Amino acid sequence: MAKQILILGGGYGGLLTALTARKHLTASEANITIINRFPTHQIITELHRLAGGTIKEQAVALPLQRLLGNKQVNIVVDTIKEIKPDDKKVITTSGAVHTYDALVVALGSETNYFGIPGLEENSMVLKSASDANRIREHVEARLDAYKASGNKADATIVVGGGGLTGVELVGEFADKLPEVCRSKGIDFSDVSIYCVEAGPAILPVFPKVLIERAVESLEKRGVTFLTGVAITEATKNTVSLKSGQTIESNTIIWTGGVKGNPVVGSCGIAEDRGRATVTSTLQSTSHSNVFLAGDCAVVFPEGGERPYPPTAQLAWQMGETVGYNLSVQVKGGAMDKFVPVFSGTLGSLGRKDGIGTIGGNNTQLKGLPASLMKEASNIRYLSHINGLSALAY
Ligand code: NAD
Repeated sequence: MAKQILILGGGYGGLLTALTARKHLTASEANITIINRFPTHQIITELHRLAGGTIKEQAVALPLQRLLGNKQVNIVVDTIKEIKPDDKKVITTSGAVHTYDALVVALGSETNYFGIPGLEENSMVLKSASDANRIREHVEARLDAYKASGNKADATIVVGGGGLTGVELVGEFADKLPEVCRSKGIDFSDVSIYCVEAGPAILPVFPKVLIERAVESLEKRGVTFLTGVAITEATKNTVSLKSGQTIESNTIIWTGGVKGNPVVGSCGIAEDRGRATVTSTLQSTSHSNVFLAGDCAVVFPEGGERPYPPTAQLAWQMGETVGYNLSVQVKGGAMDKFVPVFSGTLGSLGRKDGIGTIGGNNTQLKGLPASLMKEASNIRYLSHINGLSALAY
């Protein structure tokens, strides 16, 4: 009888698990179901462009039906409420109960607010296409309000966190808002775009020379970086900083970090600070019929003390290893160990500028080559998941 494989999450880890598992398992060997809270697979590495208004939603939200519909994978749109690994059951918010022989948990990460007072209630985040739409619509509405009232808080945007999410987002604002302002009859020099970073510098993953390049490029286009100052509190229209400064702003976007998904951390599988611990074959260290892919797991290099970062490229590769190992669990054989390949890190600084380090020797890229490389890496991913045809819809 066909084994029941249940995949939780249709992001990078979940989608690549489903595609890879189906390559190795026929429908009579395994029934594969994927549960995702959206009907789309979202390209979260490009969400900043939707928030800035430089691309359309179809470019970052690809219908799962288009990607998986002809692969004999059942698609369920629902939100996971509870995982019961000892009963081999998963319960969703709609009240449905799903059973399984093998489970894949690929539920990603959640925003970490670090308990900062007022932040969760008064900020927006950039974790989904609807978040990106909300940011774009909010910024435009505040600019309209500024035009009507002249209230400077309506023309002030504060992005908390100077990691790649925050910097790529201010890059889109710097590119797009001059045009938006022109169309509304607002002087762009009235608009303030702050990026506040608690650490001594933005983008600590990059070498100093590339950080300097990013700061210089974005400052020239109207971004103000405040580094070495943590956000300590937020209200509906103010952001307080550790330095004692208060910025009046009606647009606060928080990109200050991620944490493990609480549904995973509290379900009873072994975990470390909220992220599931895994074997070298990406099985839960406590439940061998539960596999993990993406940010909800914590993966250490062999003998290493620091876990791999929670990135899309790792989630995608974990999904491929999990997909293959599921076929081994069903049919027998030797499972693959997860050995990640790092192709590099690329960050956009708006449409025409970017920075990156690529390849084993960390070759540095800046300017148009970095932007083009980032574009190419997105196209490579879309082609890998057969998503280029889904984009046309
Ligand atoms: P992050 O954790 O990388 O960055 C968050 C930043 O917020 C940190 O620099 C941190 O010091 C700062 N911060 C934390 N608390 C603060 C406070 N109170 N006030 C001000 N600043 C504060 O988070 P991210 O940028 O969302 O990235 C998450 C992961 O996704 C990372 O591994 C990142 O590399 C990856 N990512 C990659 C890309 C890409 O490859 N282009 C894009 C986005 C994210």
